[in-house]
Amino acid sequence: MTREELISVLEDSSPENAAALYAKAYEVKKKTVGESVYLRGLVEISNICRKNCLYCGIRRDNREAGRYELTDKEVLDAAEFAFKEGYGSLVIQGGERTDRMFIDRITAMLVEIKRRWPLGITLSLGEQSMDVYQEWFEAGAHRYLLRIESSTKELYEKIHPADAVHSYETRVEALVSLRRCGYQVGTGVMIGLPFQTAAHLADDLLFFKRLDIDMCGMGPYLEHSQTPLYEYRGLIPDKMSRLELSLKMVALLRLLMPDINIAATTAMQAIVQDGRERAIMAGANVLMPNLTSADVREEYQIYQNKPGVGEDAAISSSRTEQRLKDMKIPIGYGRWGDSQHFGKR
Ligand code: SAH
Repeated sequence: MTREELISVLEDSSPENAAALYAKAYEVKKKTVGESVYLRGLVEISNICRKNCLYCGIRRDNREAGRYELTDKEVLDAAEFAFKEGYGSLVIQGGERTDRMFIDRITAMLVEIKRRWPLGITLSLGEQSMDVYQEWFEAGAHRYLLRIESSTKELYEKIHPADAVHSYETRVEALVSLRRCGYQVGTGVMIGLPFQTAAHLADDLLFFKRLDIDMCGMGPYLEHSQTPLYEYRGLIPDKMSRLELSLKMVALLRLLMPDINIAATTAMQAIVQDGRERAIMAGANVLMPNLTSADVREEYQIYQNKPGVGEDAAISSSRTEQRLKDMKIPIGYGRWGDSQHFGKR
């Protein structure tokens, strides 16, 4: 598909065409990676962050966000829960920290989890040096998620502060470092940002292809009143349009890169209750039930009205699994569910 074709699909407002696109993407998924959905237990380890992203509720300067860090025991409990539930994999996500104490803590935790359970581990802990990525890889992580947020430098710079800590080039380089270390590399973007056009989104898809990524997680941008970007909320499409646009992005990416892993993200569920299931029907094949301890969930509000706040791991996971079962979607229990794309490289 050319850039122009991608733009015209993204701009098309016909619900029939969208439904046909989702069905086509589902067929492609079925034929390549298969119908199974892989579950990854998601642990939001901490909301302490050195970054100040203009859209994010846990940005450094948001004084209203109470900061927390899970204990080792809480993380290990979540890992054990994931293993017992048959998830096969764990995702550890958190705010970005580059201090040695944090780095060492993650390393030790990776070693301990791998010692106890044969789980696949994905990290999503922001930009780090090549050495740190290497250290964590050797300790047992084998996949990494680092969204580019927008692949267009001008738009990236509109949604991040203009300083050296928030450099577009550094973020792209981090993705290159991750690949060099041997990780399965995942990236993604937010959809429906102020100032964002269909052409930006088409370029994002082409960026994923050019980077030859193994995994992707993307979802609608959701405004947060305690962030600077909130001021521009009048410029964004309504929620349902953002959801439809996100589903189209999933479907188009499945057509462009048939054998990668694509996540059905929580942000989709924040717009409609079955948002993640809709993403699965549009070509996604990975879903991450939240296993973060219930008492701190409301502190990891990267956007407001995040679903699952107040629920514990058992509730979030059983609800998610039940919905998939009701839809007759097979779940890839007990397997890591690695990116086939990576396997072929
Ligand atoms: N510190 C890690 C994890 C960030 S949180 C990192 O830098 O990769 C995970 C993702 O949440 C971000 O990459 C961003 O795409 C998304 N996110 C943050 N704020 C958001 C918002 N207001 N609406 C929708 N998604 C948001």
